[in-house]
Amino acid sequence: SASSKSSSAESAMTKEEMKRYDGTDFTWSSDLEQHLKDSFQLDKFRPLQLRAINLTLAGRDLFLVMPTGRGKSLCYQLPAVCSEGFTLVVTPLVSLMEDQTMYLKSIDVSAVMLNASSSKENTKAAMAGMTDPNSPIKLIYVTPEKIAKSKMLMSRLEKAYKANLLSRIAVDEVHCCSQWGHDFRPDYKLLGILKRQFPKVPLLGLTATATSSVLKDCEKILCVKQPITLTASFNRTNLYYEVRIKDADHDVSINDIASLIKGKYKDQSGIVYVFSQKDAESVSAELQKREISAYPYHSNMDPSDKSRVHRKWASNKIQVVVATVAFGMGIDKADVRFVIHHTISKSIENYYQESGRAGRDDHPADCIVYFGFADIFRISTMVVMENVGQQKLLQMVEYCQNVDRCRRSLMAVHFDEVWDDEGCDQMCDTCRNAQDYPNVDITLHAKQVVQILELATSMDEKLTPLKLVEAWTGKGPAKRRKMIQTTTMPRQQAEAVIVRLLLQGYLREDFSFTPYTTYFYVKLGRKAPLLKTPTHTLKMKMRAPEAGPAVVKAASGQGKSKEPKRSGQSAGDAPVRQVSKDASAPKASE
Ligand code: ADP
Ligand code: MG
Ligand code: ZN
Repeated sequence: SASSKSSSAESAMTKEEMKRYDGTDFTWSSDLEQHLKDSFQLDKFRPLQLRAINLTLAGRDLFLVMPTGRGKSLCYQLPAVCSEGFTLVVTPLVSLMEDQTMYLKSIDVSAVMLNASSSKENTKAAMAGMTDPNSPIKLIYVTPEKIAKSKMLMSRLEKAYKANLLSRIAVDEVHCCSQWGHDFRPDYKLLGILKRQFPKVPLLGLTATATSSVLKDCEKILCVKQPITLTASFNRTNLYYEVRIKDADHDVSINDIASLIKGKYKDQSGIVYVFSQKDAESVSAELQKREISAYPYHSNMDPSDKSRVHRKWASNKIQVVVATVAFGMGIDKADVRFVIHHTISKSIENYYQESGRAGRDDHPADCIVYFGFADIFRISTMVVMENVGQQKLLQMVEYCQNVDRCRRSLMAVHFDEVWDDEGCDQMCDTCRNAQDYPNVDITLHAKQVVQILELATSMDEKLTPLKLVEAWTGKGPAKRRKMIQTTTMPRQQAEAVIVRLLLQGYLREDFSFTPYTTYFYVKLGRKAPLLKTPTHTLKMKMRAPEAGPAVVKAASGQGKSKEPKRSGQSAGDAPVRQVSKDASAPKASE
């Protein structure tokens, strides 16, 4: 079972004391057990749920940090049912409220909501229920705006408080309080009034995304003194993580995805994430051509079409949704067996969230991402306006380019956690394959690339990544080919080297804006001058090329055969040649 991480706030309580809250010898314990089974129809708690529930029932203020889909809601819904009076739940989005009240209705738990669009009768009933000791209402969902703006609501809450009917306050998505978080909402800043007016009511803040500094900030804003913080591990042990190199030929990756879906994932439910609305349409059409029941989902579709696709997929009438990231909020399908990324995500955090929609039922599921060279730059121009957009994207690229470190360990650092190889247990491609990749000396390659860029600059030309690869692999314009040293490396390896140089700062991005689009050009990075130092060397672990023939062919002309898997001898040794003299060089494509 997942472990919990201790935090500074937790140290207010000893480990022994904390352990007690995992127990079932409280006055409310049998009541909990019964409602878990009868009302919520669940057979057991997930890690940390019982501890959180016992702590809040014991009257402690609590911050609960748990990955999305792990079951934070139960930690206030179940206590609500087991307490006198009602629980006030602050939620940022009306759609989340609707989902929850609908669900609670279906299990016969009385819940109401108050938001800008609530009807008069609805509001009246909710307001009356707050101060009625015989009211069946157990949960009242409100938006933060309501708290900030409705004096009527505050006066009712005050009456309820005095009558001991306000049993608990839950603040969902509590990170919205903090400006340091990624999702700040101004009205959350005013929620401190709750704890100031109702100091005896235990508060429970819930989030999937707060760092400790954000939590500290939330603590201040909400006026809670020394809450206990419980943090569940973000390690999803049932998910298998894999990266596949995406071929420049579009059909190759589609065929690969189709054969997975028709083979390994036959009759199983899944999601294919794509980059754009256009891709959602085209990839789903391609999959349909291959007899897969796949439908697009993106934000530009009719709301009714969207909800139909969602519904049919949820009830297994559609096997695959081919979606942009618009498909996410409110998706709670337990048996998603695969999440395939046709294009990399814009950050590791995003990838974790998106891929995390797989395997919510705790059974094994696969998360596969197709890593394509050109996609890096498509996303790069998309996130160009975001402050740390490039940095986050490059971390995702680093995750994908990595060939020998546990994928989990690379993810874990983004959650301030350490998941070692044991925490992975062969549930990622690098741990499972345990390949010994050669550490290739790419100094010479780097110098060639720099030379090409210097030449371009001297000719007052800018190169896109694609043009750079073409020039370097001898496919550029003839006049340039005569002036540079081209490479015999297969295209995928040439691309890998360029990505490496970008990641390490030998190259960097150079954006150019037109009224219609943003262009990505490659420029020399801050470390490029180091390559002029004779002693400076540069190495990288490299995947063996997928298809042998390209390498064999390239190498045969030099009378040297390759054994890519033996270290020390690999593409890095490929001799430099003047492509213009090589008869097999492709014709200039421009
Ligand atoms: P979160 O708010 O943490 O993202 P939710 O509270 O929405 O997650 O719960 C996600 C899903 O997990 C729901 O379908 C819920 O019914 C289910 N769930 C919660 N607790 C348990 C449990 N103990 N056992 C099985 N399923 C659970
Ligand atoms: Mg939630
Ligand atoms: Zn691993």
